[in-house]
Amino acid sequence: MKKLIEKLEKQSILTKEEYAALIRNPTPELADILFEKSVSIRQKYYGRDVYIRGLIEFTSYCKNDCYYCGLRCSNRNAQRYRLTKDEILDCCRNGYGLGFRTFVLQGGEDPYFTRERLVDIISSIKNEWPDCALTLSVGEKTYEEYKAYYDAGADRYLLRHETANDDHYRRLHPKELSPENRKRCLRDLKSIGYQVGCGFMVGSPWQTEDDLAEDLLFIKELQPQMVGIGPFIPQHDTPFGDKRAGTLELTLFMLGLLRLTVPYALLPATTALGTIDPLGREKGIQAGANVVMPNLSPVSVRKKYLLYDNKICTGDEAAECKNCLEMRMKSIGYNVVVSRGDCCNFKLS
Ligand code: SAH
Ligand code: SF4
Repeated sequence: MKKLIEKLEKQSILTKEEYAALIRNPTPELADILFEKSVSIRQKYYGRDVYIRGLIEFTSYCKNDCYYCGLRCSNRNAQRYRLTKDEILDCCRNGYGLGFRTFVLQGGEDPYFTRERLVDIISSIKNEWPDCALTLSVGEKTYEEYKAYYDAGADRYLLRHETANDDHYRRLHPKELSPENRKRCLRDLKSIGYQVGCGFMVGSPWQTEDDLAEDLLFIKELQPQMVGIGPFIPQHDTPFGDKRAGTLELTLFMLGLLRLTVPYALLPATTALGTIDPLGREKGIQAGANVVMPNLSPVSVRKKYLLYDNKICTGDEAAECKNCLEMRMKSIGYNVVVSRGDCCNFKLS
């Protein structure tokens, strides 16, 4: 197994069988060997800097019905809200003052936010803060819609592929959502020129080690600028409410393997990771991650954007969230920096 990690370090890729063999054995000993390498590669590309992204969860309405997610349209108990354009701009203003230079607009697939409304919001943000990067995470759209958002000024797009295995994808989603369309979206986003983030949940129902190996190979081929992964966490009002959560150990191990597979990538230590373990995000950074995403949403809506149970940071003001993360990063010897934090592999035009 140690030989496989050395091979991965040298070649940045393994076969599906080799990846799966490693993923079947995430022992503490092997994890230590892996993290020593993932941390030193991260150090080489990004030093001890940690980038922050200000997350604005601007709508909890969603027309989709993903079986794992608390915002799914069939969840009658979900509390729905949408922020107005002015409220979104206020979040950015607050964030800018705190040192954020990337804003992430994330939400369910909410038909209220038509192309026209989103284009207006995007151009207003870019007009007021041209030195900031703007990331969208609003799900599956047509090529034309993606292009319109890009032309309005959006720089980046996060769309997790969720699982690279098509059969597994179909078990996590109703039939209206297809793995083919999800992958089509990612290809369109890349060809338009976005910095793209894909990603997956670790430990989602029925996931096998082979599926995770396929995820790594899919990512290797797509060459995204960012990869967001976090443990699957059940939400009690969904069909997967009684399924087991993904583990801290396997999520960290996958972060380590990702750092060796796509060395230049931006890898967030996600809120979900901080939810399953009080020091989850610190441990994520120590496994090779280099981004954290504090919440900039108004406190009044925080408890209504519940993708999964027990989500952390739903009571703190943005400033507190940022301070808390800054201290956490400092405690393990890393520095939160004021910067757009572009991927080192992406040429800015
Ligand atoms: N609607 C958009 C963005 C919001 S959902 C989209 O689906 O792309 C953002 C991410 O949250 C999803 O990609 C999924 O990977 C993650 N997520 C949803 N439910 C989750 C759960 N129960 N546990 C962990 N992550 C979850
Ligand atoms: Fe909607 Fe995204 Fe949740 Fe699916 S994962 S139900 S698309 S918010």
